[in-house]
Amino acid sequence: MARQQAAHEHRRISSHLTAPAPGPAARGATLEVDDPSTGTPIATVATHTAGDVGATAARLRAAQKGWEAGGVAARVSWVRRLRDWLLDHEDQLTTTLQQETGKPRREAAFELAVCVDLINYYADHAEEFLADEHPRPHGLLTAASQLTVSYRPRPLVGVICPWNFPLIIALVDAVPALIAGAAVLVKPSEFTPLATAAVADGWREDLGAPDVLAVAIGAGEAGAAIVEEVDYVQFTGSTPTGRRIGARAAERLIPCSLELGGKDAMIVLADADLDRAANAAAWGGLFNAGQACVSVERIYVEAPVHDAFVTRLTAAVARLRQGGPGDGAAFDVGAMANAAQRQIVERHVADARERGARIAAGGQAPARPGWFYEPTILLDVDHEMLCMQEETFGPLLPVMRVADADEAVRLANDSPYGLSASVWTRDRARGDALARRLDVGAVNVNDVFKNIFTFPVPQAGWKASGIGARLGGAAGLRKYSRAQAITSARVAPRAELAWYPYTAGRDHLLRRVLRLLGARRGRRFRKA
Ligand code: NAD
Repeated sequence: MARQQAAHEHRRISSHLTAPAPGPAARGATLEVDDPSTGTPIATVATHTAGDVGATAARLRAAQKGWEAGGVAARVSWVRRLRDWLLDHEDQLTTTLQQETGKPRREAAFELAVCVDLINYYADHAEEFLADEHPRPHGLLTAASQLTVSYRPRPLVGVICPWNFPLIIALVDAVPALIAGAAVLVKPSEFTPLATAAVADGWREDLGAPDVLAVAIGAGEAGAAIVEEVDYVQFTGSTPTGRRIGARAAERLIPCSLELGGKDAMIVLADADLDRAANAAAWGGLFNAGQACVSVERIYVEAPVHDAFVTRLTAAVARLRQGGPGDGAAFDVGAMANAAQRQIVERHVADARERGARIAAGGQAPARPGWFYEPTILLDVDHEMLCMQEETFGPLLPVMRVADADEAVRLANDSPYGLSASVWTRDRARGDALARRLDVGAVNVNDVFKNIFTFPVPQAGWKASGIGARLGGAAGLRKYSRAQAITSARVAPRAELAWYPYTAGRDHLLRRVLRLLGARRGRRFRKA
């Protein structure tokens, strides 16, 4: 049944990709999508060349003009139809997502739920967030002007995605861009193109929506081709790729927003609710097999509660069931996305072992096909180990004992990354104060991940975790807009004081006026 579903989606996708002529299928370029829980292929999809990307971009640009002109209400109406389509196809999309990622069904369904929630949030607030603004003139010289800030879309936005949350990451950026009035060209990861392409097919074929959303399939070359075509790049992925894209965007003088890797610290203080903290560490570190940008990647625990925390964490991890969609049983932790990602985990665990770390759970790949790695807890780790320095992006929970909160903050900040972090204490004021000492874009106090599903706040990586931000209320739509200033003269005399002619009398008068306005008070004011 699952295979049939994948084959069905594959047929839909192939038909989509032959749309821009000459179609890539005609030249026979394809990529194979594997089920990570078995390592076997589930679909072969045609890929886009740079020429195809260019042709698709031209098509989208042409359609974008009408999309923008149609206004916010019409665009909102279309994305609400997309929401309904997602809900109507929840089962099929969840199955496709599961097959291409290997994640538990609940986590695949969770992707759909987040997308629906996001569409509702931005659809409900679009008119307000994109409305013209009329700031008050700030001084006498501009007092007679009507001031307007108008948010006009960037015509074509490229959204380049990783493989860990194929639908969330595609739509969390594509939907606000569409609502803002842009056309959007999405490139899903070459590992997980199926669900995203199915949504683009649904938009075009089932909904008959305007031709302002398309998907390009392929690896890095397809992504690079998008960067050459668009007016704005929204990239989510690794720091090295982000750096390359940022450099090219700078050369092209187009803006970009880069959401990159992280090494999120969890700081557990002695007065924390240890049961909640341990359950959060297990979920926050192992959700999606630890392949979330905001995964708990390293845990610092104050010495007095270290052992009690570890006991609880070990018990929480021991309860988890690992498995795959084909096992016929429910499971909590799935396979990793691909072989290369698992090798990073193996390297980090081997390094920690060699340097004296103890393994309290897991520590190996189970003997079964697919890219599984056991949920793993490392104890007695130190700050120099790879598992505390580099992004692991896998089911690994390294726990380090620290003397106090100051040591935890110092170690947490001693990282090239600055994505997010969490702080655990029953004293919320102390938690808030500690949050402000952490050099990261978001801090959850007594919580994990909460910020990324909280659309009114920005999601931004600091340091090597990125530039720019997604979401953040109105900013999440306005980033895909160009703010246009319109100053309109309400009173229009024949000429203004600052204009020609430059006579001595007008010059004297203008200087006096400017001094009166500028000096505000005191000796310099009186001199006027
Ligand atoms: P990746 O950088 O290898 O690939 C990401 C995407 O970029 C893929 O679609 C890939 O095909 C494309 N790409 C590769 N080279 C390109 C190029 N030269 N030009 C344009 N596009 C190119 O990342 P990945 O392995 O797919 O994803 C894992 C990474 O993503 C992790 O580092 C993780 O932390 C990060 N991530 C960050 C966030 C966030 O919001 N900060 C969210 C999820 C994942």
